[in-house]
Amino acid sequence: MKNIRLTITIVCTLLAASCKGPEPVVYGSAPGAIKKPKNVILMIGDGMGLAQISAAMYHNKNKISLERFPVIGFHKSYAGNNLVTDSAAGATAFACGEKTFVGAIGMDMDSVPMRTILEQAEDHGLATGLVATSTIVHATPASFIAHRHSREMYEEIASDFLKTDIDLIIGGGKYYFDNREKDDRDLYAELEAKGYMVDDYFKTDFFTVKPDLNRNFAFFTANKQPLTAAAGRKYLPFASRLAVDYLSGRNKEGFFLMIEGSQIDWGGHANDGEMVIQEVLDFDRAIQRVLRFAQRDGNTLVIITADHETGGLAINPGSIMGDIKTAFTTNGHTAALVPVFAYGPCSQYFAGIYENVEIYHKMKEALGFTDQEIEAVTSSSR
Ligand code: MG
Ligand code: ZN
Repeated sequence: MKNIRLTITIVCTLLAASCKGPEPVVYGSAPGAIKKPKNVILMIGDGMGLAQISAAMYHNKNKISLERFPVIGFHKSYAGNNLVTDSAAGATAFACGEKTFVGAIGMDMDSVPMRTILEQAEDHGLATGLVATSTIVHATPASFIAHRHSREMYEEIASDFLKTDIDLIIGGGKYYFDNREKDDRDLYAELEAKGYMVDDYFKTDFFTVKPDLNRNFAFFTANKQPLTAAAGRKYLPFASRLAVDYLSGRNKEGFFLMIEGSQIDWGGHANDGEMVIQEVLDFDRAIQRVLRFAQRDGNTLVIITADHETGGLAINPGSIMGDIKTAFTTNGHTAALVPVFAYGPCSQYFAGIYENVEIYHKMKEALGFTDQEIEAVTSSSR
């Protein structure tokens, strides 16, 4: 009897497995044997292509912490309507898993909002966070939390933050919350009324701040854009460490965190090689902090990539270690393949060459989120 029941169980399990539809690509070992992470940290160096990484590494005594990542891949960064993408379509591909038009924030080609990986993490009871060295309403962080057809809609994007229960926000852009031109809402006060501990650079030295693990946390590092690293901005490594400590201390089911080194891209737009190098090295110090946490934790998947390359950067003849001669082909973005570095459980998913939208699907697979669950949540909130 026992044997028959066992046989039936096995047959049913096999049937269920075979009825699931197309099997996902098997990444490495057999399905079921893969250890899944509890936490996912996606770090985006905006505009950080291979030459940006190389220039920073050779400038920095031939060392960069990206060398410690065991899994490396490349993604195809192009947008839904342009081979050369921007940060909005680029980050929306990571956040939502679809190629969209340049300028779109969390929306598909038909301007239909898509539930982002951060929102899905919220749905699943995970803690969530966004950290940036631009305003927090800028295209890259915005694409993980807002749904707008234009990246320029900063005030509307700020109001989208209030529609979520994101646990942690660190970045510039206080102005779009409490000094609004299109309405007289005070979103700073609204965040406080929602129970957030809200603070800013004007009132408090960020390096002394102690978030309360029982409350959501928002810190504005600038009224509009934060300084460049060269002008003295130092908070990203500290903020990254604070974010992982805080989010892991929230004792939820795990966490999803996006950290952006926002201004590597701006160095590229300005064709300023020194700025690119300083911004990559600042981002790299944040990567070191995150990697240290992930190594200790053992349950954290860390992914480092860029939305696109900026500037068509080259390291020209005449360069030596410590003194890099940079040159640029454009003050815009380029469509070169973008490197991806991964560490931790499910990092093996990120080897190879794939579309940028696959980053979303791989993160989702690692976190164990299914489309059925997302459909249930979206239709119930419609
Ligand atoms: Mg950006
Ligand atoms: Zn750019």
